[in-house]
Amino acid sequence: MTERLIVIGGVAAGMSAASKARRVAKGMEIVVYEKSGYVSYGSCGFPYFIGGVVPKIEDVIVRTPEQFAQKNIEVHVHHEVTAIDVAAHSVTVHNLDTGAQFNDHWDKLVVTTGGMATRPPFSGFDLDGVFTLRTVEDALAIQRFIESKKPARGIVVGAGYIGLEMAEALCARGVHVSVLEMLPQVLPTLDPEIAALINDELAEHDVDLLLEQKVLGFAGAAGRVQRVLTDAGELPAEIVIVAVGVRPAARLAAEAGVALGTTGGIAVDDHQRTNVPDVFAAGDVAEAMNIVTGRPTYVPLGTTANKQGRVAGENAAGGEARFAGIAGTAIVKVFSLQIAQSGLTEKVARREGLAVKTSAITAPNQAHYIPAHRPMRVKLVYEADSRRLLGSQIVSKGGALRIDAIASALHAGWTVDKLREVDMAYAPPFASVWDPVLVAANVAK
Ligand code: FAD
Ligand code: NAD
Repeated sequence: MTERLIVIGGVAAGMSAASKARRVAKGMEIVVYEKSGYVSYGSCGFPYFIGGVVPKIEDVIVRTPEQFAQKNIEVHVHHEVTAIDVAAHSVTVHNLDTGAQFNDHWDKLVVTTGGMATRPPFSGFDLDGVFTLRTVEDALAIQRFIESKKPARGIVVGAGYIGLEMAEALCARGVHVSVLEMLPQVLPTLDPEIAALINDELAEHDVDLLLEQKVLGFAGAAGRVQRVLTDAGELPAEIVIVAVGVRPAARLAAEAGVALGTTGGIAVDDHQRTNVPDVFAAGDVAEAMNIVTGRPTYVPLGTTANKQGRVAGENAAGGEARFAGIAGTAIVKVFSLQIAQSGLTEKVARREGLAVKTSAITAPNQAHYIPAHRPMRVKLVYEADSRRLLGSQIVSKGGALRIDAIASALHAGWTVDKLREVDMAYAPPFASVWDPVLVAANVAK
């Protein structure tokens, strides 16, 4: 009998799973239910669409439901799965256009319901001009608001990844931006002295950074936002972007008996299997194994969602694939600054109870006689006794993607001394003869 695969959620993890399953099992029935109006897009492109770098929203959409139909993958947008019955192998689906409700049978189920933008109980969250950014609909709403209302003053709540990318996007649209962050540093996934390097870049671009400010809510008139209320007073704002983190959208699966891990994401093994037979999970709804600590972690990134989705799809289709885990490798651009990290920071390593040493250097990212060369800050974190490399952070105005060399070393389980031996590429426009990563590893010696 023909097996039927149902995928819940149609973005990075979901469409990777469906596409891989189609390649592995040519005859399998594959159905995707997606509650929003779009599938197969790169949310990572939204700040660049809103900022005007990417001209059309269609540019961030990889494939449409019609294109998936040509590959014999049935995609239903505006269809929300409201319940999973693991005993009956069925889902309850709500057609959001017609209001109709029906049940559908599955032999294999892949849950990729993703992450949800955190919505703290701020007063006035529903005022016009207050946004979170997660879906195509959110990106379009922000872009249309900017085009029609031409806000002059904007507030970004949260100096994390989305907050900093959106600060730059709003500036590009002529908005004067203030960023409010409750912690004493931007990008809390970095060590504080590394994160502090970003503050000057924001100031240079006329972005006001207000650290240790707690937002209480929003106020306005005639339904439109006008002020942000904080524990230190209030600030004028015609547009507000709330970017205070992401939580796994795991309730649907949990209510069906799928086990969650300590992070709140769905617990999965290295085959993306959940505790329920025939049910797989992948992407922002799931945990991933941290290759440095050997424990599950929650780092909601598109790169992981694509890889986990592919593994889930292959295994759901009867194949055999394994996800190797993550080092939490990430990179972000803040105006002309590039910030990258992989593995553990010093503060996380210490929190893990590890005895650590660090090596932090500043060296030119190109040969010193190339006029455009810029300083590159490289910090390496390694275990004091074993000298095992634990992580790295890199900040520079060019070349921070060197973090990928460190990520490879972390996957290989190298010591900081092994890193010193790597034959890294050199020509004056790309690096110094001693690459900054090698300089940092030498200093560790
Ligand atoms: P999601 O993208 O959250 O998709 C899940 C889908 O499931 C959603 O469309 C949702 O509507 C649907 N769904 C949920 N519940 C149901 C239900 N009950 N029934 C039907 N459908 C349902 N990552 C990077 O690695 N690099 C970046 O530069 C980067 N930039 C980003 C910028 C922004 C603005 C944002 C928002 C994210 C960024 N990310 C980045 C993170 C990346 O986009 C996510 O990790 C990725 O989208 C996760 O994919 P996913 O398929 O697991 O989940
Ligand atoms: P985040 O976790 O990166 O940052 C949230 C920030 O909001 C933190 O600095 C936090 O301290 C702050 N915050 C929380 N509550 C607050 C409050 N009440 N008032 C003020 N500040 C508050 O989350 P995000 O920026 O929403 O991004 C979500 C996820 O999307 C990221 O974790 C990341 O995984 C992914 N992402 C990645 C990239 C990239 O890789 N370049 C870009 C965008 C998004």
